[in-house]
Amino acid sequence: KAPRVKALVAGNWKMNGLKASKKEVSGLARLLAKSKRVRCDVLVCPPATLIPLLKEEARGSKVAVGAQDCHAKVSGAHTGDISAEMLKDAGASYVIVGHSERRADHGETDAVVRAKAEAAHRAGLVAIVCVGETEAQRDARETLKVIRGQLKGSLPADATAKTTIVAYEPVWAIGTGRTPTAQDVAKVHAAIRGALVKRFGDEGAAMRILYGGSVKPSNAVELMGVENVNGALVGGASLKAEDFFGIISAYI
Ligand code: PGA
Repeated sequence: KAPRVKALVAGNWKMNGLKASKKEVSGLARLLAKSKRVRCDVLVCPPATLIPLLKEEARGSKVAVGAQDCHAKVSGAHTGDISAEMLKDAGASYVIVGHSERRADHGETDAVVRAKAEAAHRAGLVAIVCVGETEAQRDARETLKVIRGQLKGSLPADATAKTTIVAYEPVWAIGTGRTPTAQDVAKVHAAIRGALVKRFGDEGAAMRILYGGSVKPSNAVELMGVENVNGALVGGASLKAEDFFGIISAYI
């Protein structure tokens, strides 16, 4: 019997947010405080510049703060990069690695993503490792093959349920308003679970698998209700406290 996995709803602000947006985090904290029965963990991943500010704003609340990327090394001559240790120092407890926008815009391979996930673990951060097929791969019916390959290449050998989260984000569903059907999500998440159990045993059975791609309040209940969906990675709809809380409400 599969273990009960506590869900996580994570917001990925991408390159959005200025100091003023800290009020979205205090608003979210207030909404969460009012509904004591929220049965999921809540995370906001702002641009790195806002991590200390949002950490302060979220103090004493249910809201954790994370980052969107890290460098694989601890420190050194890497202009413009930020290490996992620095993110931890700034107040982050999670980091997203291998988002499709980084894989596409920065040429990040599975090996690079894996090195970043290992760096996250080294620094004591939970790594949220993203995988997902493109529309062309989906049309060619290669989805499961692509996902299995990305998992194999991107997940560290010693990943555990405490240190690692997988996010399934079909590239064609990100920011498009389109989502796979619940049946399609179920099929991919079952395949991911199978691969995780095969490789990591009980840890793989307990690892969170998030769904991401056009999650919004109106589809959250259906998508979060799918077997092996243990939460959401939310882009656009995480920018407004009320919208994000509407998605979190799938777990009330
Ligand atoms: P979206 O983005 O919710 O705006 O589709 C999801 C993501 O890229 O994590």
